[in-house]
Amino acid sequence: MTADHRTDNEQPELGRMAQEFGDKPLDVRESTHYKHEYVQTFVDKWDELIDWKGRYESEGKFFVDQLRQRNVRSVLDVATGTGFHSVRLLEEGFDTVSADGSAEMLAKAFANGMKYGGHILRVVQADWRWLNRDVHGEYDAIICLGNSFTHLFSERDRRKALAEFYAMLKHDGVLILDQRNYDSILDNGFSSKHQYYYCGEDVVAEPEHMDEGLARFKYTFPDKSEYHLNMFPLRKDYTRRLMHEVGFQHIETYGDFQSTYRDEEPDFFVHIAEKA
Ligand code: SAM
Repeated sequence: MTADHRTDNEQPELGRMAQEFGDKPLDVRESTHYKHEYVQTFVDKWDELIDWKGRYESEGKFFVDQLRQRNVRSVLDVATGTGFHSVRLLEEGFDTVSADGSAEMLAKAFANGMKYGGHILRVVQADWRWLNRDVHGEYDAIICLGNSFTHLFSERDRRKALAEFYAMLKHDGVLILDQRNYDSILDNGFSSKHQYYYCGEDVVAEPEHMDEGLARFKYTFPDKSEYHLNMFPLRKDYTRRLMHEVGFQHIETYGDFQSTYRDEEPDFFVHIAEKA
């Protein structure tokens, strides 16, 4: 793991047990706050939320097929989280490096690699906005999955992160980035088929507050513990536009892993952005 480059007012994040949103949680709209949200106790529960087996079955070979079709060998997973996709790709023989800005997440991912198949994950702690400083080399593909890009709250940070991803890809590389269907929640209200990403049956994930600048979700676990994530509600076409503007030439967007869909139907979108 490389050294974490903290700014002076950030605390070391390992070992923190409680989320900190302060007195005005709806005012917390900041790209660095994810480190205060993925506290140890929440990270320990994350795999209950996503349910690896259910997710494995629902995703099938979607990502693996997309990568193979493009002759991808090397992959940088920039939002490793607890390691679901990194482990999946190692299993399929991809040369995979696992990055994340959260030390807690990377520790859990490393343990999961050993647990599921004895894989030794190559982990690097890195924030997307300064990715090239901490991660080296060029990759055939970058994946940023599990509705992670939503953690960036300013357009400047989004552009910076996408430009860093772009720079770390080979000339014909591909970025695969997904997001919740926020358009549908903002325009029609929340409903979830609960089928693809958060497959844990006993965990309730629902929005507590939505406006054009904040999606605050509450996660309630069977032991009644509650956690929150404050996220930026990315609209689908906005994300696509930003990707085009940083230089990606061709972007295809799937809805719940299908190429045809009515915009309001899917819970999640997957953008596949090609550099050439
Ligand atoms: N991909 C995993 C999954 O699908 O289960 C994890 C998804 S989790 C919702 C989002 C991850 O993005 C967290 O592990 C968090 O630490 C990471 N993250 C958020 N903002 C980041 C940033 N600016 N730089 C690096 N990692 C970040």
